[in-house]
Parts: sequence; structure tokens; C-alpha cells
Amino acid sequence: MSADAFGPDYHLQHPLFKNALQLIEESGSLVNVDKNVLERLKRPKRCLVVSVPVRMDDYSVKVFTGYRVQYNSTLGPYKGGVRYHQDVSLGEVVGLSALMMLKNSVLGLPYGGGKGGITVDPTKLSRTEKQNMTRRYTSELGTSIGPQIDIPAPDVGTDAQTMAWMMDTYSQERGYTCPGVVTGKPIEIGGTVGRTGATGLGVVYIAERTYQRLGKTMTGSTIAIQGFGNVGAHAAQYAYERGAKIVAVSDVTGGIFNGDGLHIPQLQQWLKDHKTIAGFPNSQKITNEELLLLSVDSLFPCALDGVINEKNVDQVKAKIIIEGANGPLTNEASQVLHKKGVVIVPDVIANGGGVVVSYFEWVQDIMSYFWDEEEINKRLSSILYKAFDTSFALAKEKNVDMRKAAIACAVQRLEKAMLLRGLYPR
Ligand code: NAD
Repeated sequence: MSADAFGPDYHLQHPLFKNALQLIEESGSLVNVDKNVLERLKRPKRCLVVSVPVRMDDYSVKVFTGYRVQYNSTLGPYKGGVRYHQDVSLGEVVGLSALMMLKNSVLGLPYGGGKGGITVDPTKLSRTEKQNMTRRYTSELGTSIGPQIDIPAPDVGTDAQTMAWMMDTYSQERGYTCPGVVTGKPIEIGGTVGRTGATGLGVVYIAERTYQRLGKTMTGSTIAIQGFGNVGAHAAQYAYERGAKIVAVSDVTGGIFNGDGLHIPQLQQWLKDHKTIAGFPNSQKITNEELLLLSVDSLFPCALDGVINEKNVDQVKAKIIIEGANGPLTNEASQVLHKKGVVIVPDVIANGGGVVVSYFEWVQDIMSYFWDEEEINKRLSSILYKAFDTSFALAKEKNVDMRKAAIACAVQRLEKAMLLRGLYPR
């Protein structure tokens, strides 16, 4: 381990954070962002590290480490998920919180950026242990979170039940029910309709917009989708309903292909019955790698990060790529494909549907008045289209890829707000 790892700023050395800083620097200089603003954007405002002692089922006590990083609150309360994973570190959470700041900003939401987590393998905990840990973590965060301060949400290893425990703990400690402290809750306690499929639906709204801008239509076009989980399966369903031909999908076990298009509702049923897409009738088996290289109109990578990289980028044939997952293309691969004329919509916009509908959940909780799904989806498309159109136009104007343009839009919005608010005390 390098000496840096033990320096005072060791948490600012994480590769994920360095990558975020590079994006901020490069995009900021593209639109001549004020250099003092850039300096401020390169540091997290506040990092909380808490010990989380938990009574285990065998009555012993284990102490876990929890984090909440509040990166920037210029545009509103901090907002971002809580991750339970054995690899969670302060550095990783700092990087993820910076990316949340950029995502919330480019989407035009009234939020700053935040992220939290606990270093733990949640699959090794019983339900009771997970509940105890979640409640103590929430209690340790104390007054640092709240509907006007910092609003957590689910991420890797956490779910609607985790958010229910967080909301209940926060509410018990204050003496009144406070649904707006977290989003991603079950509908019965202040969650919103439309949240589960929101990210996949957002991917499809963005794909449709991209086709439109290129003078094409999604109906009848061919699409390959990597990943058939929450994002991939919903994206497949919504694209299928719009008449697209989903010629290939994959999961962790590999992919399936049918040049005439897969019957997605039947595939959903197959997955329910068999727990995998493998063996689906009328399909040919392909590998995950082959799926990425298919000759299709568009590709939705909705599983893992870094799957399109310097090793396979030269063989990618899709003309449109919509990043459903976080970071499925490396920055370098993205630039190579951009030079070849491929349109790549970056994750901060393409998978923004989840956080946009989280925002709607928070608004509804505050109003104590709930919208129907039609209302949610109309508002979702309007926010995503606006973010897409602004970034698409800037990419064209500056002749850069959409990732750089989207981050530049995010940084510009932050710059305007920071300059208007000024530097406290002066
Ligand atoms: P998920 O766990 O529901 O599904 C993941 C899918 O990827 C599964 O089908 C799994 O089998 C597949 N998979 C795993 N390893 C694979 C491999 N090696 N090759 C091919 N497929 C593989 O997860 P999700 O919620 O759909 O999230 C997918 C991605 O989207 C992640 O990058 C996540 O961070 C990102 N994302 C999710 C949301 C959301 O609302 N769920 C929002 C924004 C971003």
C-alpha cells in the first residue's frame, strides 16, 4: 500500500473519486467554469464515519463501520443511496457521493450529492441482525439526516425494507412519523408508485429520444440488452411494448439470441419459473461478450461497469448505446466510439429515472398527497428529456461525447448557483 493511503487525505485517493475529479476538471474547462468554483467542487463538504455496534443472534456484539458523505449541498439537501457491501470504504463513498452531485445536477433536481454505506457482507447477516445494524446506523447518523438535510435511498445490498427500518428509527427518535427522510420505501408507508420500474422506463424514454434526434424510430429497431435484473428486464419490457425487436438479453449465466426478436413477456414468465433466462425456447445461446458485439441498432448495457473497454471497443457495432448500468463503458472506450459516430448516452442521464422518481416520492411525502402512475411517468419523461436535450445540444456545439457534455451541464448549473450564493462568510 502506498504511503498516501495513510495520509490525512487518504480517502481522496480512491480511483472512483479520482475518475470523478477528472470528469469535473475536463468538463469544467470545456465550458470555462470559474476556477474557484472548480476548487470547491473537488472536495467533499462533510464525511461522517460512525461505529455501528450490533447485537448478533448468538448474543455477541460486532462493531461495523458506517459512512455518510455529504459532498455538496449548493442545490438542496444531500441525496444518494446507502450501500451494504464488504468492499465499502470511505474513499469509495466519497467517489459515489461526487457522482451523485453530478447526476442530481444534470437532471435539474433540487438536490446536492450524498452517499452512505456500511462495510459488511449483508448476505452473512440474519434479518434481525440486518435490522439491528440498520437501526443503529440510522441512530448514529442522528440529526445529520432529515427531509431537508440529507435523504438516503436504497443501493447495492439495501432495499425497500431497509428504508422502512431507517424511516421508522428516525421517526421513533423524533416522536412523529417522518416519511420524507428516505426514499425507496414500500408504498404502504409513503413510497411511490412507479419506483420499481423507473430506471428501466427512463432508459427507454432516453432511447426513444435518441432515435428521434437521429431521425429514426425505435419501433422495429433491433436492441441487445446486457443484464436482465431490475434495470434490464424493465427496459426490455418497455422497449418491447413500443414495438422494438429485443434480439438478445443476458444475465450472469450468459445470453440468449433470436434475430426475429425475443417474446419478452414470455421470457419474464420463464425467468420467474426457472430463475434464469438460460434455456428459453426459440433462442440461441450466446456469451455475454458476444452480446456486446452484436450488429444491432442499439445496445443497453444494464449489468456491470467497465464491460466495454480497450479490449473489445473496436468490435462494438451498435450505433446507439444507452448506459443503463453505472459506468459500463470506460472513458477511453466512450471516446473511441464517439469518434466513430456512435451516440452514447451516459449513465448520469440514461439511468437517472430511479433518482427522479425518488425525488417525486420525497415531494409527495412532503405534500402528503400522492400521484398516480400516469402522472409520475409524464413528469419523469419531461425531466429526462430536458436533461437529454441540453446535453445533446452542448455535445453537438462543442463536438464532444455526451458524457463530457452532461458533466459540463452539471458543473455549469452548480457554478451558477455557487456564484449566486457566494462564499460564506465572504
Ligand atoms: P440487479 O441485481 O437487479 O440485476 C443485475 C443483472 O445483471 C442480473 O440479471 C444479473 O444476472 C446480471 N449480471 C450479473 N453479472 C453479470 C455478468 N457478469 N454478465 C452479465 N450480466 C450479469 O441490478 P440492477 O438494479 O438491475 O442494476 C444494474 C446496474 O444498473 C448496476 O450498475 C446499478 O448500479 C445500475 N443502476 C441501477 C438502478 C436501479 O434503480 N436499480 C439505478 C441506477 C443505476
